[in-house]
Order: sequence, then C-alpha cells, then structure tokens
Amino acid sequence: MLNDDNPHQRKRLFISLFFCMIDNMKLNQLNFDHQFAALGEQYFSFVSPSQCEQPHIVSVNPSACNLIGLDISELDHPEFAHYFSGNSPLPGAKPLAMLYCGHQFGHLVSQLGDGRAMMLGQVRNQNEELFDIQLKGAGPTPYSRNADGRAVLRSSIREYLCSEAMHHLGIPTTRALCLIGCSDEIYREQIETGAIVTRLAQSHIRFGSFEVFFYREQFDLLPALADQVIAHSFPTLINEPNKYELWLQHIIQLTAKLIAKWQAVGFCHGVMNTDNMSAIGLTMDYGPFGFLDAFDPKHICNHSDHQGRYAYNQQPEIGSWNLTCLAQAILPLLHEEAEQAVDIAQNALKDYWPAFNTEYQRLFRAKLGLITKQETDGKLVQDFLSFLHSGQLDYTYSFRQLGNYQTNGQQKPNYLNTPSLNKWFERYQQRLVSENSQDDQRKIRMDKANPKYILRNHLCESAIKKAQQNDFTEVNTLLKLLTNPYDEQPEFDDYGQLPPEWARDISVSCSS
Ligand code: AMP
Ligand code: MG
Repeated sequence: MLNDDNPHQRKRLFISLFFCMIDNMKLNQLNFDHQFAALGEQYFSFVSPSQCEQPHIVSVNPSACNLIGLDISELDHPEFAHYFSGNSPLPGAKPLAMLYCGHQFGHLVSQLGDGRAMMLGQVRNQNEELFDIQLKGAGPTPYSRNADGRAVLRSSIREYLCSEAMHHLGIPTTRALCLIGCSDEIYREQIETGAIVTRLAQSHIRFGSFEVFFYREQFDLLPALADQVIAHSFPTLINEPNKYELWLQHIIQLTAKLIAKWQAVGFCHGVMNTDNMSAIGLTMDYGPFGFLDAFDPKHICNHSDHQGRYAYNQQPEIGSWNLTCLAQAILPLLHEEAEQAVDIAQNALKDYWPAFNTEYQRLFRAKLGLITKQETDGKLVQDFLSFLHSGQLDYTYSFRQLGNYQTNGQQKPNYLNTPSLNKWFERYQQRLVSENSQDDQRKIRMDKANPKYILRNHLCESAIKKAQQNDFTEVNTLLKLLTNPYDEQPEFDDYGQLPPEWARDISVSCSS
C-alpha cells in the first residue's frame, strides 16, 4: 500500500510516473547522444545509406524496443520501413561506418571497417543506458572494398533470429530491432533479394577497432577508444589509475564466460575473426553460425572454413588467441615501458583458462542437474558427451531428455535407453543419490539449463524459404518461439523435436 506521507515512496512514485511518460518516445524524438561520433573522424567515416527499392517490414521485435525507449505503437508508423531501410533519415541520426581491422582466419587484414553496417548513433533510454543503433546492409561505405554493401534476406533472417534466440538463451549478444526486406536484386551465388537488419548493442566496438591503430602505430588514438568502452560498459573503472588493465581483465573474463556459454548450448560462431569479437563481451556478427544437431566436437558450421579453425571444439582456444591479439593491440595503454606492458598483458591472459573452465563446469553441472561439486563431475560430463558422439545423438534433445531420468525407478528416457549407456547411468544415479537429488526438482532445474527450442538450421531454412516467397509468418513464429527457449510450448512442440534427415545436407558459407 502506498503511504502518501512517506517521502521515499512519493519520490519512487514520481520516478516511475516520469519513466512511464518518457517510456513513450516516438521515432522522431529518440534521445540521440552521438558519443561515438564525438571521438572524431579518425575512428570512422560519415556515410549515407543507399536507397533501396520497395522497403517493407518483414518483422519487428517488440522486446527490443525498450532498449532504445521506443514507444511500441511506433511499430505502425507509416515511415517505419523507410527509416530502418535507410531510405529516409531517422530524425537525429548521423550515419557512420566504424573503422577497424582484424585477424581473419589467423591472418592480419590491415584495414576492414564496416563495409555494410552504418551506425546511426547512440540513443539514451529511460534508464540512462546508451545503445548503438546500426543498420546492416544499407549500402556501401568507404570500407566496402568493392563489395556491394548489401546483405541478402537469407543471411539477414539468420542474424535477426539468432541474435534474439541467443539473448533469450541468456547469452550476451547484440540485439535486433527489426528486419526490413527490399526488392533490389543482390548478386551472390545466385540472385537474391536484400534486407536490412537494425542491430542494437551497448557497443559495436571490436577487438579489431584497437588493432587497427596498433598496427598503424597510431597509439595516441587508443586511449579515447578504450575510455569510451570503459565509460559505457565498465563505468566503475573510470577513475581507477590502472583502468585499461582492469578492462583487459574484465574482457578476458567476459569472453571466457561467453565462449563457455556457447559451448553449453552447442553454438558455433563460424567466423571468430578478431573483427567479430566484441570489446564488451557480446556475441556479434552472425554469419555462417550453427547450433549442433548430432554431437560432434569437431563440427565445422562454416562451409568455407576448410581447416576447421573455428570448429566447435576449437572455439575456447580461439577465444584465447583472439584475446592475445587484443592484449597486444592495447600494450601501449598498459604501461609506457614495453616490457612491463607485456608482463601486465601476460598476467591478465593467465586468467582466461581458469575463467573458462570454471564457467564451463558450472554450466555442465547444471545441465546434468547437479547441485554440489565433486571431482569426478568433469569425467561424468565428458563420458556423456563421448557417448553422444559415438551414438551420433542429438546434443540439445539428449540433454533435455536427460531431465526425465528417474533415479528411484531408474527409468531412462527412451532416446537414451541403449545398453551402451547403462554403466554411465549407474554412475549418474550414484552421483545424484550422493547429493540426495529429488527427481521432480532436478527436472525443473535441468529444464532451465537445457533449452528445448534452439534455432536449428532447418528451422531457419524453412523460414527463409517462405520469406523468399513473401510469406513472413514463419520468421515471426520463430521469433516468438525462441523468446522462451527453456519453456514447454505445447503449440510449438514439433519445433523441439529431432531435426529431419534433410537437415544434414544444409551447408552454410560466408556468402551473405
Ligand atoms: P564478416 O566476416 O561478415 O563480419 O565481414 C568481414 C568484413 O567484410 C567486414 O568489414 C564487413 O563489413 C565486410 N563485408 C562483408 N560483406 C560485405 C558486403 N556485401 N559489402 C561490403 N562489405 C562487406
Ligand atoms: Mg564482421
């Protein structure tokens, strides 16, 4: 009950009323604060989106509106598709393409930059948080390197759905506000139509954003960039004398934990180049990603990755390699004496594997429904994974089914009920009994750790096929379904079943 005499309650009421009022920002009133542009043009190039033909809404994501304080009714704004295709300038926006470089498949490419993404600026939401708004696929920029600056509908649907799927799985990621289709012909292996995804993130700054100035020996440009990352995403570090070292420590922790989370849901990024690694620990730049179907630790989701550099089981190692590139690029920030800077970087990097292993073990214990820690847990997990591999069993489905295991009746889920797993189940049963595990409560816990619904390639493929015929219902169904990946959704039960045979033949390459 509200007590009118209580000044604290009155203040709180006033604040919430105030937020309700400013909650409702219209498209032409977005609260732009161009902090990235304020860094100066050494860090980016101002650009103009190109006109596209017949822009139309494929999907709008209401759950992302709040991030920029956008009134949900604005989704019906007649100019919506024009604003978010780049055809009409969004009031207050100052489009720019960010400069960066990166290690691509292990090799330094000295200049990249946003070749088809344009940042419209930062918008301050009702909680005083800044979010970048970025159009991806809105035409060429000075960094397009003879490419067309466009993205096809197929790859845009994949990015749009996957970034939201990852968010709702609890994995840090860029978000997606909307997906606009257009009728322009885009030339890839075949002629396709284009689309523009509007991405939102607290920052799109990448490891490569620092590398570009390191390799150009423009060390004086590093501090302002790092200061911006720190101010926006690690504000408690601002006044620390060793703030850059602390940020490095944070990003090592965040990246290690991020990749452990990828491993736990069976996510393969596909192109873990340093220009696709976020300086604040988000999953970003969804290209030829994939979720594991049948468990194969060497699974390569990117058809163009012939060496398997970015295979599922390589991701943790690549995370460490990429962080070493970042640490090298910011050496000038760590200490004025080169040797001491190297010592600081090396010391910080030592924390990567402990951070990764701790998070990995925590997540996999949860996947098995374990509460306590025991030394043999790692082996129990690895043996289960080996079994999935040798039996070519589905990764997501198996873990979800494991939740149905009954300790008392020793009832095994049908899918996992094969003689070769008997010994493993004996150990699992003993392990559960040792912590007095209750089946019903364990099932609830396990369902929160083992998603039922993930963005499998074949689901995405079906949505893409329909969308290419101008039927966007499946894109929107998947968006809805993937908002609650851990909950049973009886009306969508089919989407949580094993993939069909034809899913094995889907191949995803860098072409997008
Ligand atoms: P990615 O690996 O997809 O993140 O892209 C690597 C680099 O190529 C980035 O600098 C992109 O901006 C650029 N790029 C990819 N596709 C295109 C395109 N169609 N037009 C212009 N630049 C592109
Ligand atoms: Mg990229």
